Amino acid sequence: MTEMIAADENAWWFILSEGKLVALDKGDFIPFGNIEELPFPEGITANKVLLGKYQEQPCYLIEVENSLDVGLGEYVTLRSLLGRMDDLLFDMAGRAFQISLFYKTHQFCGQCGQTMQKIDWEIAMKCYHCQHRTYPRVSPCIIVAIRKHKKILLALHNRHQKSDRPIYTTLAGFTEAGETLEACVEREVFEEVGLKIKNIQYVTSQPWPFPHSLMMGFTADYDSGEINVDPHELIAANWYDIDDLPLIPRHGTIARKLIEKTLKRCR
Ligand SMILES: [Zn+2]
Repeated sequence: MTEMIAADENAWWFILSEGKLVALDKGDFIPFGNIEELPFPEGITANKVLLGKYQEQPCYLIEVENSLDVGLGEYVTLRSLLGRMDDLLFDMAGRAFQISLFYKTHQFCGQCGQTMQKIDWEIAMKCYHCQHRTYPRVSPCIIVAIRKHKKILLALHNRHQKSDRPIYTTLAGFTEAGETLEACVEREVFEEVGLKIKNIQYVTSQPWPFPHSLMMGFTADYDSGEINVDPHELIAANWYDIDDLPLIPRHGTIARKLIEKTLKRCR
């Protein structure tokens, strides 16, 4: 979608380079304004991609090389903006990262190996040799908070182990081909901690662009079994009293939302 933009049109600009994004240090973080009035170097908007709209204004992805100075803001990681900006604007930034990654990783056809080309009316890549077409990859993933009477199950994951103040969080895992979300929740919980659960309830979802997951959040209740952690995934998992919690994920994460919902269910 490289359609023309009117000279007087205001837009949101998602400028990416080397895995980072240009952000201002105040306000909405994402540069906004008229292309004619922003201090962009000549030509950087030539290959812009329309991502969608935020607050009725178009959002564009611009990819630049070598963290080029674009005249405003600093390059920051997407993670550093998590929980600090409006959820919908953050999701659009995540979309920018996912689409950038999609174009980079789909330059050649997975079916015949020829060069793929951008389609100009939707975000997709097409091989004009064999007609194979691909779309941005989205990986469905479940995440679940489990209650047992007035306690919540929280786990220390391998990836959080090295921190000085390790975060304890919910269980999560990728959905497998041909699996329902509910079956995935049951399987992941049993594989990771050896417990059977019941009352599985869908709560909410969150795009998680690290790099392309879609987290689908559930709550559930303990049914049976003793905790038996899978050492490939977890360091530890325990039942925590709601008044005596370890460090939990920050605001802005779906894990935090599910934990808070479960704490309310415990009260
Ligand atoms: Zn092909």
